Amino acid sequence: MVVDLDKNEDIKEERKEYSENNQIILYSQVDGMCPICHTSLMNEKKSRKLKNYEVAHIYPLHPSENDKKILQNVEKLSTNPNDLDNVILLCSNCHTKYDKSKTIEEYESLKKIKQDLIIKDRFHKLCGKSFLEKEIIDVINSLNEKNWDECDIGLDYTALKIDQKLDFDFNFILKNQIKFNITSYFLLIKHLFSEIDKLSPGKFKIISQQIKLFYYSLLPSTKNQEDIYNQMADWIKLESNNTGSVDTCKIIISFFIQNCEVFEYVSE
Ligand SMILES: [Zn+2]
Ligand SMILES: [Zn+2]
Repeated sequence: MVVDLDKNEDIKEERKEYSENNQIILYSQVDGMCPICHTSLMNEKKSRKLKNYEVAHIYPLHPSENDKKILQNVEKLSTNPNDLDNVILLCSNCHTKYDKSKTIEEYESLKKIKQDLIIKDRFHKLCGKSFLEKEIIDVINSLNEKNWDECDIGLDYTALKIDQKLDFDFNFILKNQIKFNITSYFLLIKHLFSEIDKLSPGKFKIISQQIKLFYYSLLPSTKNQEDIYNQMADWIKLESNNTGSVDTCKIIISFFIQNCEVFEYVSE
C-alpha cells in the first residue's frame, strides 16, 4: 500500500490547486527540467505533450513525524507552505522520494535551488525595467573589432586597488580575471567612451549612472558579489542585443568596477 504522507492527522492547511498560469511560472522557472535529476518535465506520446511533473512542497504542507524531527530548526522560504516561493516542480520520482524520506541535506539543497531560481526571476523582472543607452553596443563592437594589443592605448596597472572592493572570499579565478580585464582594457574603454562623448556629450555620465542604478537595484535580492558580477554581465549582453560575448560584457563590468559604479570599498 502506498502511504500518502500528506494525509496526516491534524490537517489544517488545504492542498492548493495551482492555476494554469502559476504552473507556467513554475515550469519556466526550472526551464522545463526536474531540478534534481534534470529529466524533462514534458513527455511526448504520439506527438501529444503530456505533463511529467508534480508540484512539490519544499517545506512540507503536512509534515510527517520524520519531517517534524529533522526540520524543526530550519529556515523556511515562506510562512505559507502553499506560497509559490515554497513550491517547485519535480518529476514524480523525485517528488515521491523527497516526500517519503527527505534528509535535512536534501531539504537545504532543494531550498537553495529554489532561492537561486527566485533570484533569477527577480533579475529577469529587473532587466525588463532597466534601461541602458545603446551606445554600449558601439563600445562592444569596437572592443571586438580589432586586436587592440597592437594599438598604443597603454595598460593600466592600478587594478591592484580592486582587492579593497572585492569580498575576502571572492573567487580567485574571477578576481584575477577582473584584474586582467582592468589592466588590459580600462584605458581603452575610457578612450572609446570619450570618442562617444564627442558625438553625444554627456553620454558616458548617463551610461555610468544607468550601470550604477542597475547595481543598486540588484542589491535587495543578492549581496553575493560573484552573482552580481555575472548578472550584470548578462544584463549588458541582453541590453546590447547579444552583440558581444559574455566575456566582452564582463570586460565592460570590470571597467565599471574600477571606475567605482559597481561595488563599494569594503571597510577594513
Ligand atoms: Zn527528478
Ligand atoms: Zn508532496
